[in-house]
Amino acid sequence: MTDTTLEAATALFLDLTGRAPDGVWSAPGRVNLIGEHTDYNDGFVLPFAIPHRTYAAVGVRADGLGRVRVASTFAAEPVEVSLNELDELFPTASGTAPGVPEWAAYPLGVAWALRQADGVASSAATGTGLDIAITSDVPVGAGLSSSAAIESATASALNDLWAAGLDRIALARVGRRAENEAVGAPTGIMDQMASMLGEPDAAIFLDCRSLDANLVQVGIAEAGLAILVMDTRVKHAHSTGGYGERRAACERGAAIMGVPSLRDVSVDDLPRAEELMDDVTFRRVRHVVTENQRVLDTVKVLRDEGPRSIGDLLVASHASMRDDFEISVPELDTAVEAALAAGALGARMTGGGFGGAAIALIEQDAVQQVSDAVNAAFAASGFAAPVIFTVVPSAGARRDA
Ligand code: ADP
Ligand code: MG
Repeated sequence: MTDTTLEAATALFLDLTGRAPDGVWSAPGRVNLIGEHTDYNDGFVLPFAIPHRTYAAVGVRADGLGRVRVASTFAAEPVEVSLNELDELFPTASGTAPGVPEWAAYPLGVAWALRQADGVASSAATGTGLDIAITSDVPVGAGLSSSAAIESATASALNDLWAAGLDRIALARVGRRAENEAVGAPTGIMDQMASMLGEPDAAIFLDCRSLDANLVQVGIAEAGLAILVMDTRVKHAHSTGGYGERRAACERGAAIMGVPSLRDVSVDDLPRAEELMDDVTFRRVRHVVTENQRVLDTVKVLRDEGPRSIGDLLVASHASMRDDFEISVPELDTAVEAALAAGALGARMTGGGFGGAAIALIEQDAVQQVSDAVNAAFAASGFAAPVIFTVVPSAGARRDA
């Protein structure tokens, strides 16, 4: 799977330019094990990188015109702009820059944000024009962060070819800035950090306030377990609707509690919060506060007892997203319930919600049984068939060729 995507990026580059790329870089999508909508509240998350990756085959242009061209198998037409124009295109107030289709705002936004990053602006190499060809096997819009994968692959390539010298955390910030300000999606830093920092068999325990990241061994395979992804194929959209409203509710809740962010509210503060705010705001706050605690608990349980013991935390996380944060949809609830009924140790929706995927922690030899049960439950509810596959914690962004 992986190798063909790498080769496809090289082939697309050849189609675009008639020559071989100077290099190929890649970065993975991610699954969030636990810690949802905590990232933009300065809280804790525990994602891991998945085997599905986005590849960027990139070459320096010899014409000296300082233009950047991006092509993707995702889109029919390449998009070309002058690097000098980037500052006029971004940031976008409306979420769309004239003449830049949304998909191209991800790689072009990365080029813009990287040129603006601390210590980079003075580097002459950032004026060098590039051709970029992108392929991916990360499901798009499934909550597995194809967006962070394209950002991190592009950022890694540009960092090397422009000799910008940014470290992985700085590159994650570049990706986030592109997504927030060039695409107009108000997402947190989790996805980019997972895509940049992933390691085989490890989850990334990330403090989104300090950006302190620690790898936590997951030991899934060793314990005879597997993680099943159940992509509902219900498309979500971060740049519109519910995601922004949830962020606003969190900001409102923090303001009422008189703290900079919900990270500063503890489970013990919840009774006071309930007295101070309306029911909806309180439930949004309660999700974030209890979810932060569940991430801390999950890390501790993984370290002390191993992955077999985290099932209940996953289930509690899903209930909190369904009932308090109200970001689940019937397809996600059905996937979670059917997986649990078929013997999963735990299951929860993952990603921003309103569609996308759920995960289930299951016995390795129960993959077929749980998949069949989820498929049957979808059919019985009249939902389109889900896409179901297993994932293992995998490597983060890297140069492949
Ligand atoms: P998710 O990150 O859950 O997959 P998002 O809505 O955050 O969903 O990001 C998906 C968007 O990212 C796509 O609609 C497209 O604009 C862009 N994108 C992702 N992968 C690619 C790719 N390989 N080529 C071009 N654009 C991509
Ligand atoms: Mg995304």
